[in-house]
Amino acid sequence: MAESEKSSALSALSTESRTFPPPAELAAQANATEDWYARADADREGFWAEQADRLLWTKKWDTVLEWEAPFAKWFVGGELNVAYNCVDRHVDDGNGDRVAIHWEGEPGDSRAITYADLQREVCKTANALAAMGVGKGDRVAIQLPMIPEAVFSMLACARLGAMHSVVFGGFSPGALKARIEDAEAKVLITSDGQFRRGKPAPMKENTDQAVEGTTIEKVLVVKRTETDVPWTDGRDVWWHDAVDSASDQHTAQSFDAEHPLFILYTSGTTGKPKGILHTSGGYLTQAAYTHHVTFDHKPGESVYWCTADIGWVTGHTYIVYGPLANGATQVIYEGTPNTPHEGRHWEIVDKYGVTIYYTAPTLIRTFMKWGEDIPAKYDLSSLRVLGTVGEPINPEAWMWFRTRIGRERCPIVDTWWQTETGATMIAPLPGVTHAKPGSAMRPLPGISAAVVDDSGTRVGNGEGGYLVIDKPWPSMLRGIWGDTERYQETYWSRFAEQGFYFAGDGAKYDDDGAIWLLGRVDDVMNVSGHRISTTEVESALVSHSTVVEAAVVGAADETTGQGIVAFVILRAGSTDEAKGAEAIKALRDHVSSEIGPIAKPRQIMVVEELPKTRSGKIMRRLLRDVAENREVGDVSTLADTSVMDLITSGMQDSKEE
Ligand code: ATP
Ligand code: MG
Repeated sequence: MAESEKSSALSALSTESRTFPPPAELAAQANATEDWYARADADREGFWAEQADRLLWTKKWDTVLEWEAPFAKWFVGGELNVAYNCVDRHVDDGNGDRVAIHWEGEPGDSRAITYADLQREVCKTANALAAMGVGKGDRVAIQLPMIPEAVFSMLACARLGAMHSVVFGGFSPGALKARIEDAEAKVLITSDGQFRRGKPAPMKENTDQAVEGTTIEKVLVVKRTETDVPWTDGRDVWWHDAVDSASDQHTAQSFDAEHPLFILYTSGTTGKPKGILHTSGGYLTQAAYTHHVTFDHKPGESVYWCTADIGWVTGHTYIVYGPLANGATQVIYEGTPNTPHEGRHWEIVDKYGVTIYYTAPTLIRTFMKWGEDIPAKYDLSSLRVLGTVGEPINPEAWMWFRTRIGRERCPIVDTWWQTETGATMIAPLPGVTHAKPGSAMRPLPGISAAVVDDSGTRVGNGEGGYLVIDKPWPSMLRGIWGDTERYQETYWSRFAEQGFYFAGDGAKYDDDGAIWLLGRVDDVMNVSGHRISTTEVESALVSHSTVVEAAVVGAADETTGQGIVAFVILRAGSTDEAKGAEAIKALRDHVSSEIGPIAKPRQIMVVEELPKTRSGKIMRRLLRDVAENREVGDVSTLADTSVMDLITSGMQDSKEE
């Protein structure tokens, strides 16, 4: 790092010079080409109108965009049915026999669902929900495992103009109840149980606690595990009774482009989840467009697999709406990646000939931990494009993904977006971009984003700052459910004067102007006046041969303001020596030589696990509590609460030494 670097919004410490051009064959037939950027810049609204033409509108819009910051309306006056676009349209086009979903159950059962099957299932579900009194504008809560009924339910809501609020299957009754109450949902769709690591776990028993005393009138229950369940007559209805007996004919009604489609709560990494509201036409347009261009998806040829849970926005946009709008054939897998063995994902890639594989950095690091000999046993030659989402991907994990999974043939698209943005915003184009390991590279054609300083001015190349989106985009959130004030305050107050959307993430431009995400601004550490991102220090740690995962936080420090405290997970089979004082010193020195002495951790703790949300993201605020000896804060969105006890007690040990 240059000594002369001034104290800016955010330091840019690491440099990465490796670049990987797109494979020639892919580039030659790519869905999107270089000229799309300039074309979109020249006429942004015209470009989005062109993308909206991917959909079938029953009434064409009058105006592409009405923008009264921070309130947007896209494709004003247009009408469509979202479910019709994702299902019936493909049957009408003669593709009813195409497999929409290859579903793979955790115990090894499977189902192939064609578009014609999907149409029948969605119609039956819509008829059953309508019979329960669900109609336009009603809210339906869904807590289900990764089974086809989850997709049928979401599409049935969309078909009826009702809004779904999907709650991740692992959430507690309390978390479900809070979301039901916030949305005032009328119906809950759930299952008797769910398979988790080879065993059935109860589901309805928990959801019963959640619906107690709420607005829920009916509970529709899918039988999945044959688990005994408590039953409330008059309220509870079996799916196989209500849906299987319903008619498979249903005429889809058209809704306004701005008709609400769903509410989804953010994953809660930084605090209380926000009920993000998305609407129909703009959302579906950007979902379909981004799925088409970032994955270079070819309908009828590609076999696509997104490993996210349907309870997160990635599951909404890149399992349900984007791929199905594009007539994709996709894999949906019910279970965990190590059931019954750690090669399960690669076995599935081989079985279905998966060509596009989209996953999270946390999972890639887990695969690294399990060892490269596991994927090496499988035929992965069908893969063409790899993708990541959810967190910054550190160069080490990117390179591992490229070599061990992509076998050096597949471009990797690191897609930056949020529940709030609805769809991908910043990502490489696989047939165009010369990608760099760990960089999301550049806003997609049609998207305008910038890295700015405190005053909202674009920072120079080689500098860091705040990531903002400076022009409205079709799939942008339309608000926080029931809380306009929080919407304005959270996203639009930081750069109110400029009218920028503030994403809450830090980022930098490298010397070529490529964008690198640097983690959340709330997590930035201030060391002797230098604002240092968590991501760069974590990547430096992970680039050491002994470390597979790292989380760093800034803890109060008398001399430097904040000191960097690192929590690291070592590679499987690490010796005691690797945990010893000398090895720790070597690790601190490694960070110093990789990105500069200013970033050298004050303290490094070896841990077995890190606190993660249920979507797999590290909750640094909890580690900050530990590092500063505070009582650990709200852990309700944590996947495994016992992790914090382990870390806290380990922390005390390390101080006594
Ligand atoms: P909450 O807003 O409740 O704290 P959350 O931000 O974790 O929860 P999501 O909307 O699921 O909820 O996650 C979006 C965030 O994930 C982004 O703001 C960013 O911090 C991170 N993220 C997603 N994709 C990437 C990526 N490709 N690179 C870097 N960071 C990413
Ligand atoms: Mg967020």
